[in-house]
Amino acid sequence: MINKDRILSLFFDLVKIDSPSLKEKEVAVYLRKIMEERGYEVREDNAGKASGGNTGNLIVRIPATGGGEPIAFSAHMDCVQPCLGVEPVLDGDVVRSAGNTVLGGDDKAGIAMAIEALNHLEDESIPHPEIYFVFSICEESGMHGAKNLNTDLLPAKDIVILDSSGEVGTLVVAAPAKAGIKMIFTGRSAHAGIAPEEGISAIQIAAEAVAGMTLLRIDAETTANLGHIDGGTVTNIVAESATLTAEARSLDDGKLQAQLEHMEACCAAAVDKVGGDYKFEYEISYPALHVADDSTILKRVELACEKINVTPRRVPTGGGSDANILYGKGFNALTLGIGMSKVHTTDEFITIDSLTGCAELVAEIMKS
Ligand SMILES: [Zn+2]
Repeated sequence: MINKDRILSLFFDLVKIDSPSLKEKEVAVYLRKIMEERGYEVREDNAGKASGGNTGNLIVRIPATGGGEPIAFSAHMDCVQPCLGVEPVLDGDVVRSAGNTVLGGDDKAGIAMAIEALNHLEDESIPHPEIYFVFSICEESGMHGAKNLNTDLLPAKDIVILDSSGEVGTLVVAAPAKAGIKMIFTGRSAHAGIAPEEGISAIQIAAEAVAGMTLLRIDAETTANLGHIDGGTVTNIVAESATLTAEARSLDDGKLQAQLEHMEACCAAAVDKVGGDYKFEYEISYPALHVADDSTILKRVELACEKINVTPRRVPTGGGSDANILYGKGFNALTLGIGMSKVHTTDEFITIDSLTGCAELVAEIMKS
């Protein structure tokens, strides 16, 4: 049986340890200790050094006690701000923060579920294949842990990421690719009162470009958003330069490309109309994730759901996570809903039922 008091106590311990992105060391020390006390090998990779953090990712190896292909479970150690001095409060069946911080169930609930699932298997001597835990750093701020993961330490191909909202049984089978975009508009400065006709306003070029753009919800699979605009200096100078940053996401790589082309075409049309020049730069932050219908990881997890009478629900998500990065590195990555709610707000909460229910599913997946 999943032990409710034990998982709750572990979860409380974890959320009370401060761990903003790139400062996860104290959590890493805590996790290393409890894993090494049981005799498991804990390795730390160089992701911390590569990304400026105070610890790397932890990779724990739990030797097989039965047959089956190796399987990995991943959860990130960092939390979004405000996350310093979290005071977890138990309110009936609900765990929330005292109100000044996030709870940090994103993603310490995932860590607690993986460990409690293992506790359950150990308690009852239930055989399992080789298991790996990946406790990653800096997911919330650019997924630098996953990006810099030393994959040599992780021989399992199937990896379950315990890091999504949605109740137990939620399986995230698609996640969008994301492009970070920078548009730089260059006009010509001139005195705005004496010789404005000699100037070209970079702000007007930017405005013209933006006015032509289709943005926000493009279609069911695609989104785009302007994040920041910056330009010009003072009112009596025609603005020489303006910069816009934006992002675009799509579950479909072709649609993402089309949106990028559309946004660039709007910049070109604006320059045709107003004059001046533009630069359109983008970088694909991570690839789209698609879990194939016949993938082994999906079969493994859906079978485990059936065994504990949980109805699996395949869903897409609009956000990116470690799963996108791991998928891009060739792992069979599948993210599970773990019941965390209102994440990234001070109203974040999780129910005890979610903690124990998802831990039970994780344990069932481990047995496969
Ligand atoms: Zn998360």
